[in-house]
Amino acid sequence: MRKQVRVRFAPSPTGGLHLGGMRTVLYNYLFAKKNGGDFILRIEDTDQSRYVSGAEEYIHNCLNWAGLEPTESSYHGGNYGPYRQSERKELYKKYAEQLVKDGHAYYAFDTPDELENMRHDLKTEQNPSPQYDQSIRMKMRNSLSLAANEVRKLQDANAPHVIRIKMPEHETVSFIDMIRGEVSFDTSLVDDKVLLKADGMPTYHLAVVVDDHLMKISHAFRGEEWLPSAPVHILLWKYLFGLNEMPQWAHLPLILGPNGKLSKRDGAKFGFPVFAMNWTDPKTNELTEGFKEKGFLPEALINFLALLGWNDGTEQEIFTKEELIEKFSIERVHSGGAKFDYEKAKWFNHEWIKKSGVRGMEPGVKRLLSEKGITDIDSSVLEKVVGLVKDRCTLLTDFYDHSYFFFKSPEKWDIAAVRPKWNEAKQLFFAEVIRNYELNNDWKAISLENSFKEIAAANQIKPGEVLLPLRIMLVGGKFGPGVFDIIEILGKNETINRIKKALTVF
Ligand code: GLU
Repeated sequence: MRKQVRVRFAPSPTGGLHLGGMRTVLYNYLFAKKNGGDFILRIEDTDQSRYVSGAEEYIHNCLNWAGLEPTESSYHGGNYGPYRQSERKELYKKYAEQLVKDGHAYYAFDTPDELENMRHDLKTEQNPSPQYDQSIRMKMRNSLSLAANEVRKLQDANAPHVIRIKMPEHETVSFIDMIRGEVSFDTSLVDDKVLLKADGMPTYHLAVVVDDHLMKISHAFRGEEWLPSAPVHILLWKYLFGLNEMPQWAHLPLILGPNGKLSKRDGAKFGFPVFAMNWTDPKTNELTEGFKEKGFLPEALINFLALLGWNDGTEQEIFTKEELIEKFSIERVHSGGAKFDYEKAKWFNHEWIKKSGVRGMEPGVKRLLSEKGITDIDSSVLEKVVGLVKDRCTLLTDFYDHSYFFFKSPEKWDIAAVRPKWNEAKQLFFAEVIRNYELNNDWKAISLENSFKEIAAANQIKPGEVLLPLRIMLVGGKFGPGVFDIIEILGKNETINRIKKALTVF
């Protein structure tokens, strides 16, 4: 019988959720949905020294905003909880003890000073950071090197100790990665990783294997930075649960920035977000901007993230979430690093803004305007404005610059652009336009434009000479969509008021 598909995203709550993490979420989500599976969010908070308060809630918010909700999590509940590793602490010890009993792990009593001395004494140019491994373990203070009665004495005295895996010598362990194919490791090159810490907390290595087992995870997708740890995990699977039970793994390629691995620093340096949502470090109060606040639609974020390392084999670039669910396959993810191109990300957003319905955009635009002090918003006007300016916006935040003047009459005008060519004839022309518009009962861009041009012709004025002043009267500067479209939306009273007001200062 085919195993139920169960995948997990397992972040450590240490700060903002960067693009790489978000893409791991997405690939997990798509794979789960495609296979009718479960998507679990597990919080890996066993390293208390790196724990950052607020980070877990933030991760939930990011997944919620992106529309990539897990089916099981500390917030959603589920049958395999708790979903926070710190709350599962008591569970891991017995597995570590079992490994010791079976000869696959050992107690290590080395103090921090002793470890430091070892690293210092063995350091050479060829080996700048010596590891606690099979070549030195017998020189250290552990249950392999010490006599049994000494070990017992230390244990009776509650001497602080950790449990380390005993990596076998010169064994080859291998597995089939869903993206990379067969990957092999020489166990002699891997250190004796700590599995259980002195405070009784498991390390990532033990916890990930135990939890993937207990949570019945069928496929585990994680960043390629975890590939070097795979031999430890494979051995733990072999020793504890049997290799047949091991999930299928895929190690996702790095996301590359302008100079190697994409980093938070790249974002600050090149002016683009690297986190899904704004993140404020609670210790330093430093704010790192997120894609959401920068003005990205979740649909666009999902779309460009999906294509950072994957394609469906065609030229298609715009995919809805439903299409991605249908077409996604982990085997089509490339093994090489995927380069993040911010301009391309913006292109996706622009395409998604164009594709989105006016109604769907309205609440976001309304929020944006009100954040900037524009609260008196007529919803039928908003609808027309959004429809008119939508295709000009790359980021949601661009809506402000493209639309605030519909709700706020200008108080300053680009007078320098008008005054040198301003004259009595133009003043009279606009007075006539006002009279004509006052009588206009068909307030539509086309009829307003026709009347304007007719009046210009009758006064021997080239329309080009009065169109720019008209625009500046209405919006204050040389920007905005078609001027008669603006007039149609502003309506008769507002248009005439704006022209009259500007005429007093031109
Ligand atoms: N806690 C690990 C991380 O923060 C998870 C790695 C995994 O998915 O196994 O990246």
